[in-house]
Amino acid sequence: MSEQATARKELAVSDEVAIDIRGMNKWYGTFHVLRDINLTVYQGERIVICGPSGSGKSTLIRCINALEEHQKGSIEVDGTKLTNDLKNIDKIRSEVGMCFQHFNLFPHLTILENCTLAPIWVRKEPKKQAIETAMHFLEKVKIPDQAKKYPGQLSGGQQQRVAIARSLCMKPRVMLFDEPTSALDPEMIKEVLDTMIELAEEGMTMLCVTHEMGFARQVANRVIFMDQGQIVEQNEPEAFFNNPQSDRTKLFLSQIL
Ligand code: ADP
Ligand code: MG
Repeated sequence: MSEQATARKELAVSDEVAIDIRGMNKWYGTFHVLRDINLTVYQGERIVICGPSGSGKSTLIRCINALEEHQKGSIEVDGTKLTNDLKNIDKIRSEVGMCFQHFNLFPHLTILENCTLAPIWVRKEPKKQAIETAMHFLEKVKIPDQAKKYPGQLSGGQQQRVAIARSLCMKPRVMLFDEPTSALDPEMIKEVLDTMIELAEEGMTMLCVTHEMGFARQVANRVIFMDQGQIVEQNEPEAFFNNPQSDRTKLFLSQIL
């Protein structure tokens, strides 16, 4: 077994279900974008989702925290069923952190204000406590010295680390990443991946859409391949990369590896 696989084995996966998706379907108008998605994610799992552009990866991730509505089937996060009830949506969003390709920081707020906004206004945390928490996570992503600056004054890699810190300030049980390194210059990709690796090692449950297959091999306990709105294949990384089953997966891997 490779060293990476050995390291991966040491990260525990619980038998507690974090996310349970059953028979989920979604349409954009008449376009059937997600087809019969079944996916159970256990606490502590690090799942990498890959697949061609347009296969529905972002839509799947966005359905999990109700940024998109699904029309059929069910999604449960930590036992809370995602329905149109705003209470449930709020509860799920408070448990699920999300990082996007384009960071989505508020440009007119400082780094610290970006990190304290939701804890103060959504979680009703006292300001002093929110600042302490924010500084703790900014230290964790190794940019506490940038706290007073504005996003536009930071590099892309730093901004993405702020986005991760900002999510962590809400104490999520699960983190969703949608191509967090795709908009970054190559020299900045590693610093963001290193932050994600640290999170994984601390036991965070993570679903990551990424084309960083090195990250998948090192960190994921499961790789999922999507095509045309379906989960085509999933396996632990070694088997997924070394012995893909479907022709579509083989074709995809031959194009990216
Ligand atoms: P991926 O993230 O795998 O590239 P997406 O989930 O972004 O795929 O998109 C899946 C498909 O849904 C694509 O064909 C895309 O054009 C389409 N799509 C995405 N968002 C919308 C939208 N808001 N309205 C209509 N079609 C959309
Ligand atoms: Mg996408």
